[in-house]
Order: sequence, then C-alpha cells, then structure tokens
Amino acid sequence: MSKPTNPSMQQVWQQDRDHYIHPWTDFSTFKETGSMVLADSDNVHVVDGDGNRYLDGIGGLWCVNIGYGNEEMAEAIAEQVRKIPYYSCFGHHTTVPAAQLAAKLAELAPGNLNHVFYGCGGSVANDTAVRMIHFYFNQLGKKSKKQIISRIDGYHGSTYMAMSITGVKFDHIGFDIEEKLVHHISCPNPYRRPAGLSVEEFCDQKVQELEDKILELGPDNVAAFFAEPIMGAGGVIVPPEGYHKRTLDVCRKYGVLYVSDEVVTAFGRLGHMFASGDEFDFVPDIITCAKGLTSGYLPLGATIISDDIYEVISQPQADGAIFTHGFTYSGHPVSCAAGLKNIEIMERLRLCDHVRDMGAYFENQLKTLLDLPIVGDVRGRKFMMCIENVANKETKELIAPEAKVGNRIADHCQQRGLIVRPLAHMNVLSPPLTLTKEHIDFLVATLRESIEATI
Ligand code: PLP
Repeated sequence: MSKPTNPSMQQVWQQDRDHYIHPWTDFSTFKETGSMVLADSDNVHVVDGDGNRYLDGIGGLWCVNIGYGNEEMAEAIAEQVRKIPYYSCFGHHTTVPAAQLAAKLAELAPGNLNHVFYGCGGSVANDTAVRMIHFYFNQLGKKSKKQIISRIDGYHGSTYMAMSITGVKFDHIGFDIEEKLVHHISCPNPYRRPAGLSVEEFCDQKVQELEDKILELGPDNVAAFFAEPIMGAGGVIVPPEGYHKRTLDVCRKYGVLYVSDEVVTAFGRLGHMFASGDEFDFVPDIITCAKGLTSGYLPLGATIISDDIYEVISQPQADGAIFTHGFTYSGHPVSCAAGLKNIEIMERLRLCDHVRDMGAYFENQLKTLLDLPIVGDVRGRKFMMCIENVANKETKELIAPEAKVGNRIADHCQQRGLIVRPLAHMNVLSPPLTLTKEHIDFLVATLRESIEATI
C-alpha cells in the first residue's frame, strides 16, 4: 500500500495508522502497510494524497451511484444544514425532507410497501426489520414466531443481529452469533451447483430446502426469510430464474415474512430503483435499503414495510406496547435531504435507463475475460459484477487462499489506475452508475493486463 510522498499526507497516513481502528481490517497487515489516503474525487474517479487518479470500479463500497463530487448534492446538503441541521423525529415532530423522502420511497417501492423507518445504514435497517417482525407477531398473539432463516453467503450487516443473519462463514470466525434465532440454508449459486444437475433442478432443490427448513423448525416458530435479490459480498450470486418468486410463495404458504435486503441492489445498480419488483418481479413484505439511497454522500438506511404490517404495529396494543425502537439520528434531515436530491438527480439523468443500456455492454465486455486461464466465471447483472478466479476451469477447483489471488489482481489494477475489490479468490465490480463506454473499455483492458500479470 502506498505511503504518500507529499509531507502533509504522510502525516495523515501516520495519524491514521497509529489511531484509527479501521472497519473489516486485518490489523496485522495494516500495521505494516497503513492506508491509501484518498483526498479528492470527481465523477467516477478518486484521487490519492499524491494526486494519482483511479477509476473507482467499486463505487466506494457499492454505493456512490450518482458519482463523486456532485455539486448539486453538495449544495442540497449545505442548504439543509443552514435551514435546520437536526431535529429528533421521536413522537410528534418531523422535518420536511424526512416526510418528503418517506413519501417518495413509498411511491417508488413495489406493491403496498408504503411505510418507511429510517436508520443510519444497512445493518441497522435489517436489525430494525427483525424488531418490527417480532413486535408484529407479538401483537398478532403469535409469540412463538421468532426464528429467522437466511442463506449461506448472504451478507446482511455487522451489528450483532445483522451479522448473525449474515451467512458468510468467514465473517463469523472469532465471534459468537445469535444461534438460537437464526438458521442458514444453502446458497443458490448456479456456478457451484452439483455436477449433472440442471439449473432448473438446482432451483427446485433450493426452494424445497427453504420449505424443509420451515417445516423442521415448525411454521409457528418461523417469522421471516431474509434474502438479497443478488447476493453481493457473498460473491455476486444471481439465483436461478424464478427463485425469488418461488421462495416467496413458500413463505406465503407458511405465514413467513419475506425481507428483501436491497442495500446494494436498490437505487439503480440493476437499472431500477428497486430490484425486487422490477428486475425479479416479486413484492416482498419488507425491503431494507441504504448505500445508493444517498449515493453514500451521507449515512442513511431505510426499512420499508407493507401496509399490512404497518396496520398491525400501528394499532393501539392490548398490552399498552408501542413500537419502542428508534435512534437519535432516525430521519436525520440532512441525510434525508441528500436522499431526496439523490433520487431527483437519478431521475433527471435517467440513470436507471443508462444502467440498463450500458449494463449489457459492461457484462459482455467483462465476459471477454473468460478466455484467460484462471477466469472461471464472470457473473452478475448490469453494474453489479464479479469475476471468480479458479485453479482449474474444468473442475472449478479453488485457488489456495494463501495465493491471495483477488488481492494480487486488485494490487495490479491499482498500479494501473483502477480500483477493484478483492473478495477471497474473486474480484467484484460495482462502479458509479455514470460509467461510460470509454470507462468500461479502460476497466476491462486494465483487468485483463492485471490478471495476466498475476498468473
Ligand atoms: N446488506 C447488504 C446486502 C450489504 O451489502 C450491506 C453492506 O455491504 C449491509 C446490509 C450492511 O450495510 P451497512 O454496512 O450500511 O450497515
């Protein structure tokens, strides 16, 4: 990792290394390398402390959807700070952007998902969903309905509950998780399906597995199923055709709520404001979202629930209970103003149309890398893509973790002015939605050179 040569940035690098506990970081290597200091940005590029520009192939962390350095966004945020920078929304106060954004999200969300609870990110949106679901079933008198089912390799966040729902096994090492409430079924990864099984048969198995798990736990004990439309951090897994609709049918059959975690997929990444309804044609009971909601300009997450759930949790409760859940920064007006402006910009620039057009080109160009000897799979949809590197393309044998192939490819890319994210033996791509054909050509050519340099 590059220590800056510029003296003032060297001081920042040192302060960071000595005092800042970074999230999701291997402290042992961090102490040797420190961080790459990012000091500036513009549209699809970020700039390091020495002035080097990089095309950001990962949109920060799947989130900078409208691109960096948007002046209109900066102005909207500043204007809200000048008007009223904060007010608590507990009880009977609100602010203009909190109310307006909730109405806008209700308009954009599929079906009857018309009620919005705000938090400060995706993990909290999922934690909130669990608390709402438990409260909902308690109020219906179904007090045993508490268990949550999610999938191996699903990622749902980093708070205690969200991490328990997460099914990426590596993320659990060294921690305890809430095992009494959360159960994982297997991942619907078509690339790694058993040999001899068609994708359709594989889908049948995965849907059946959910039903079997509900029956094993007892439908009266199962509250909800959590799933991302496309798994992100688990390796950009696009489930087989029909998987979501069919798992939703299973949920409906047993009175289990379906939570669609759209923290990555909402707000344009798949060419729609929400992927559940428009890309996968199903309406869940709850959608959680964050990231692209403000394009990462400010922290904000939302839990969007159906009329049916709202009806129950908003009734006067026999036991006097009210939904005692919320945060100082729930509905923060400046974050909500950023969310409103973000959606306005996306709509005006027709960014979803752009992603639908350019996404096909991106997918096709990335697939040209399949001729390289270690590229086993190029998968994903539109601006949410992944390259899986393997030791043997025929057997799909994994490359040994010690080889750190994803990291080495990412390092080569960085030396050539491109940031991609290593994810074990894979590299993921989730660029700003403003990416053009020229950017894509640079990105793919740089990846090719970098993979060749790594082999
Ligand atoms: N859900 C999904 C699908 C995510 O990808 C993430 C983060 O990457 C989260 C939840 C957690 O969001 P946050 O990091 O904002 O808490």
